[in-house]
Amino acid sequence: MARGHALVTGAAGTGKSLVAVLALVEAVERGVAPERVVLIAPTRVAAARLRDRVSLAVNRPTGVPLVRTASSLAFEVLASAARAVGEAAPSLITGAEQDVILKELLEGRIGRDDLDWGGLPPEALRLPAFRDELRSVLQRAAEADLTPAELGELGRRAGQPGWVAAAAVYQEYRDVMTLRSLPGDQGQRFDAGSIAARAADALADWPAGVAPGWDLVVVDDYQDATAATTSLLAQVRRGGARVVLIGNADEAVQGYRGGVAGGLAAAAATGAFPDVIELEQDHRQHTHPTLAAVSAAVAQRVGVRGVGSARAAARAAGPADGVGVDVRVAAHRYAQSRAIAAALREARHRHGVPWREMVVIARSRAQLQVLRSDLLGADIPCEALGDGTALQRESAVWPLLAMVRVAGGEPWTEELAADVAQSRVVGLDAVALRRVRRALVAEDRAGGGVATGAALLASALADPAPLATIPGPEAAALRRAAGAVRAARERAAAPGATPGAVIWAAWAALGVADQWRAAALAGSARDDGDLDAVIALLRAAQTFEERMPGATVAGFLSYLEGQEFAVDSLGARGSSQECVAFCTPASAAGREWEVVVVAGLEEGVWPNLRLRDSVLGAQRLAEVVADGWDGAASRALPQRDLRQARKDVLDDETRALLVAVSRARSRLVLTAIDDGDTRPSRYLSVVEAAAGVTRIEGATGGVADLRGAVAALRAGPPSVGAATALALLADAGEASADPATWAGVAQPSSEDPVWDPDATVRVSPSRIDGIITCPLRWMLESAGGRASQSDAQSTGLLIHEIAAEHPRGTSQELHAALEERLAEGGTWVEQRAFKDASAMVDRLAGYVASVDPERVLVEEPFHVELGSTVISGIADRVEVNGGTARVVDLKTGSTITGAQGEDHGQLMMYQLAANRGAFEGVEAASGAALVFVGKNAAKAGTVVRQSPVDEEVALARLDDAVTTMRGTRFAAVINDLCGYCPVRRSCPAQPDGDQVGQR
Ligand code: SF4
Repeated sequence: MARGHALVTGAAGTGKSLVAVLALVEAVERGVAPERVVLIAPTRVAAARLRDRVSLAVNRPTGVPLVRTASSLAFEVLASAARAVGEAAPSLITGAEQDVILKELLEGRIGRDDLDWGGLPPEALRLPAFRDELRSVLQRAAEADLTPAELGELGRRAGQPGWVAAAAVYQEYRDVMTLRSLPGDQGQRFDAGSIAARAADALADWPAGVAPGWDLVVVDDYQDATAATTSLLAQVRRGGARVVLIGNADEAVQGYRGGVAGGLAAAAATGAFPDVIELEQDHRQHTHPTLAAVSAAVAQRVGVRGVGSARAAARAAGPADGVGVDVRVAAHRYAQSRAIAAALREARHRHGVPWREMVVIARSRAQLQVLRSDLLGADIPCEALGDGTALQRESAVWPLLAMVRVAGGEPWTEELAADVAQSRVVGLDAVALRRVRRALVAEDRAGGGVATGAALLASALADPAPLATIPGPEAAALRRAAGAVRAARERAAAPGATPGAVIWAAWAALGVADQWRAAALAGSARDDGDLDAVIALLRAAQTFEERMPGATVAGFLSYLEGQEFAVDSLGARGSSQECVAFCTPASAAGREWEVVVVAGLEEGVWPNLRLRDSVLGAQRLAEVVADGWDGAASRALPQRDLRQARKDVLDDETRALLVAVSRARSRLVLTAIDDGDTRPSRYLSVVEAAAGVTRIEGATGGVADLRGAVAALRAGPPSVGAATALALLADAGEASADPATWAGVAQPSSEDPVWDPDATVRVSPSRIDGIITCPLRWMLESAGGRASQSDAQSTGLLIHEIAAEHPRGTSQELHAALEERLAEGGTWVEQRAFKDASAMVDRLAGYVASVDPERVLVEEPFHVELGSTVISGIADRVEVNGGTARVVDLKTGSTITGAQGEDHGQLMMYQLAANRGAFEGVEAASGAALVFVGKNAAKAGTVVRQSPVDEEVALARLDDAVTTMRGTRFAAVINDLCGYCPVRRSCPAQPDGDQVGQR
């Protein structure tokens, strides 16, 4: 390569990035000091990739980064400038911080009505999307080194009232930034837009000879450089550096970030680059003429930008043979995703292409998210996608911040406690949460409490004492959460409590870091991403403390809460080597894969001809500035402006497509949806014509995923062939083909009885009829399958309590007892509950007044042994006369008939117990009764009597129950109470509990 300033162009795949790397490496090998050379990449991700290539090629430590972004180089210049005059180091304002400042400024403007935003209503100023547009305008203005006054003037000349209004906010923003840089120990603060322009100013003002300088500066993908980068490079050149600009205007994809696609042509026009080299040999698609033909055809549709457009190599490709290009049109989104999955799987299994050599490219991040989720569902390993979530909303971050807020004095509400318990850092699922709430309720009831599970959870997080006696991992996780809050509180109270220190204290006390790290190292993108988010939070806290000495935890929390979108550092996380990549055209630029799928090629989507920045026109501002002020005046003509703007947008879209299709080394698949509402993009016809292929419409065959194949084999008619295929798949390691994994076909885990045949069986009288009516319900309820307590059950408990307290109470005494326990509340529900309970007390009082036994035992426990069976329980009321007694059970539910009363198993067991001397001073039962005091009972209670029991009948009933309980199988027996059964959804006799494998 010649030794002067040089311009290198070349079509996609001609090795431009390689030339950039080799130019740098050659200089270092010639003996140029590493700190005197630098390669500039358009984005941080591209810089990281090129850095790896350069490091490999140089193969020795250099001590300085050889590859940077323009912003990083500018920062280095400004840091040197600060050092030279003894000032503190400068710092960068993140996009998220800038958003918070603009939010405050705009909110201060609402209601003042002194700016015309092109007719926008004041409420629009509150929208994050509006701030996004405003940030873009200010960034373009800063990159072009426009002052607020110049931006306003440009807006007036170009007929853009939004720019005039933005100029006023720009002035306020600059004032705020100046004020924030004032304290002597803080350096200057720069945002991404202004940093390159400020660095250019610094170099221009620097005395010759002492300014930082370079011998060689190589710029890759110069078509994406901003106007400010161009100014910075001009100063670098003035300082004696040889500058090599490399790019292709047809591949410009950073227009939305201020990239100037015509920059290469403009550089050539300056005459400062005597060497113009065009790379002509295609190294990527040269063995695949169809791919090259597609790239060439798309490139031809881009508006010509002069010297920067390099198409010779593409034109030189041989005739298309239709090999390697597929165009597929699907009837709906899922069909498109299936087609993509089939194409990727075919490449993997038929052609041996590793997953990491495949990419799915779509026009927007939202499309990628949908496609990725569908492909994950089809078992395709997919690269993680930074989702643009604001730091404070990251799944690992928000619960941590919530705990820190609680440590600072906020109370645990029921909702917050449940959310945090189920959050990523505590990790309970819905079932575990329910389990622990139940345990808390049980403990509370044992102590006489009446609080709800949700309230008990909130108070257990505030004071974990009740959790100490609850076994299991759920309670342990909640204890750690409570411990994290305590650790944060203690750290906050200690000297030197910075926001970072307090958050770290909570994080360390949670104790999940090691587990996440191990999972991340084992390949879990989720754990990797979550660890990344926590690190980003701690880094954000540190930066906040550095910028605001004396910052409080509350100040940091409110700063984070103001942020609406992701900080930059989370963008590229979680990528893995053995995954399919997901890219927009901008993030795909500069890379290549064996297999490229370009998805979502529909009219209105790609190309999307909606004018960019339609509200404030940031991209237009970049173009206007690039054309000079005279251009701005001519763009004020609305007719021409609109036509030209649309053409520019179409060019942008076509360039993006060119970048996408030219990434493929051996196979290109283009997909679109045609469902009546959307129709395939015009670009598909271009590709079909160039490649000589015809689109395939409708369902795709191809290679199914294994789970789909297994499902098809299982769903088809039973045959030896299907069974053999399933067996072969299972042998080959496909777990879903193994019947052992199929729901509903597993054999019983045990045929052993629940109770040891020699052990004593304890029978509760109240359960005896249930055991016989439906053994399965009894079994599942005994194992914990009970519904939580209903309001009606709570009222029943209350009535039982009052009855036990006043066995001979008058109506007045019973009502007083009710009022003590249940105040008449203000809400309709509370009033209704009180009314119902009051009516029950009336009926209870009526019953108590209607009987006059010599002695009344209430809530009387009993225990009777009959061989290896024990009957035990508590009788509500034993009415004793002489040596006999009537045992009474109070009921608050619906009444039953007299015949049902005679056959009532519970009453029989009470009588049996009384006959066996279970109650003090009672020799035999004189009968038993159910006293109903619920809604449909009589005024003095409905009494359903049972005659003195026939022991033979009672013992037979007991024997039936015990035989069932000692059994190994528990039948589901449909009965009148199935509608109220809490385990209905686990019951094979019911449609909702039916086993899948047995349909
Ligand atoms: Fe038994 Fe009916 Fe419940 Fe099934 S739904 S377990 S049959 S009570």
